[in-house]
Amino acid sequence: MKEFDYIIIGGGCAGLSLAYELEINGKLKSKTLAIIEPRTDYKKDKTWSFWKVMTHNFDDCVKKSWESFSINIPKKTNYLECASYPYQSVDSGLFYEKINNKLKENNNISFFKDLSEINSKDSFIFNSVPSIKKNHRNFWQHFCGVEIETQNNFFDDKIFNLMDFDCDQRESVHFFYTLPFSKTRALIETTWLSKMNDSSQKDYDKQIKNYIENHLNLKDYKIIYKEEGAIPLFYPTYEKEKNKINIGTAGGMTRLSTGYTFLNIQDHSKYIRENIENIINAKKYKIGNKYQFLDEVFLRVLEKHPEKMPDIFFKMFKASPKTVIKFLSNKSNYFEDLSIIFKMPKLTFIKALFY
Ligand SMILES: Cc1cc2nc3c(=O)[nH]c(=O)nc-3n(C[C@H](O)[C@H](O)[C@H](O)COP(=O)(O)OP(=O)(O)OC[C@H]3O[C@@H](n4cnc5c(N)ncnc54)[C@H](O)[C@@H]3O)c2cc1C
Repeated sequence: MKEFDYIIIGGGCAGLSLAYELEINGKLKSKTLAIIEPRTDYKKDKTWSFWKVMTHNFDDCVKKSWESFSINIPKKTNYLECASYPYQSVDSGLFYEKINNKLKENNNISFFKDLSEINSKDSFIFNSVPSIKKNHRNFWQHFCGVEIETQNNFFDDKIFNLMDFDCDQRESVHFFYTLPFSKTRALIETTWLSKMNDSSQKDYDKQIKNYIENHLNLKDYKIIYKEEGAIPLFYPTYEKEKNKINIGTAGGMTRLSTGYTFLNIQDHSKYIRENIENIINAKKYKIGNKYQFLDEVFLRVLEKHPEKMPDIFFKMFKASPKTVIKFLSNKSNYFEDLSIIFKMPKLTFIKALFY
C-alpha cells in the first residue's frame, strides 16, 4: 500500500485551502500528500462570504465585492460603509477549479476516495471531517439560499443586506440575507439560529418564496442555483493525537456567534504552512480565547432571550462599522471589544455569565 508524508482527510474548503497553501509555497516539492475525498466531481455548492480583513489566496474566485451594507429590524434600517474591509463572496465552483488545476501539476499529490486505500500509519494527518455528537442543547446556524435572476433590473448591486429581521421569528432568531451580484441576479437566504428542533423552521422554500414575492415585491424571477447548510455553533469533538491536526469546521475554525469560517481556515492554513517542518510540536492554533469566551456568553443570551437578538445585532452595528467588522472577524483589539460591549444590553449579558 502507498505511503505519504501528509494526508488530508476531506478535500473541501479547509483541505483544499491547506493543500494549495503548501503547494504554492514549495512545501510539497520533496514531500508527498494524499487527499482523501469521496465526491466524484466538484461543482459549486457554497458561496463563502466574509469581510476582507486580510489578504488571502482567492481574490480571483471572488464573484462580487461590496463597500456598503444594511441591517434592519421592523421599521428601522441602518446603512453602513465597509470600504476599508469590503465584503467579498467567493464562488466555490471557481475555488475548486483553481485549486484542483494547480494541484494536478504536482506528481507528489494524489487523490483517493477512502482512507483505507493507503497506509496512513506513519503519515501526519490533517482531518477536516468533523465528529459531531447529537446534543439537543447545541445551536446551529441553518439556512437555505437561492440565486435568482430577474428579467428587468431590480437590485441595487452597490449595497448588500446583511440581516433583515423584519420576518417571522417563531420563538427563535431568524433573518434574511441578500447579496445582489448584479442588477438582475441575487442570492437570497433564509437563516435561522436555533437548536434545529422545530421542523417548521425548515420550510425554507416557502419562506424564501414569501420573502421574494411579498416582502421584496418581486414576482417575475427564476431560480438558477440553490444551496443549503447547517453550521454547528459549537465545537465538534476533538481527540488529541500526536500525528493528527483537525482543520476547518472540525478544527474549531467557526466563529460561534456568526458562523464565519472561511477566513479562519485561510489563517489556519497559513499557520500550518509556516510550521510544517516541525508540525508535530507546533502549538494548537486557536481563533482566540477572548472570542471563545465572548461567543459563549452571546450564545447564552441567545438561548435565554431569542426575542432580544434582532435588537442586539442592530445595536451592535451602532458602533463604528470598522470596529464591528474587526470584532466579528476576530481582528479587534481590547479597546475595540469594549466599544462593542458598551453597545450591548449590559444587564442581560452580565446575567448570562451566571446561567
Ligand atoms: C452552504 C454553506 C455556506 C456557507 N457559507 C459561509 C460563508 O458565507 N462564510 C463563511 O465564513 N463560512 C460559510 N460556511 C461555513 C464554512 O465556511 C463551510 O462549511 C466550509 O466549507 C467549511 O470547510 P471544511 O473544509 O471544514 O468543510 P467542507 O468544505 O464541508 O469539507 C469537508 C470535506 O470532507 C469530505 N468528506 C466527508 N466525509 C468524508 C470522509 N468520511 N472521508 C473523507 N472526506 C470526507 C466532504 O465531501 C467535503 O469535501 C458555509 C457553510 C455551508 C454549508
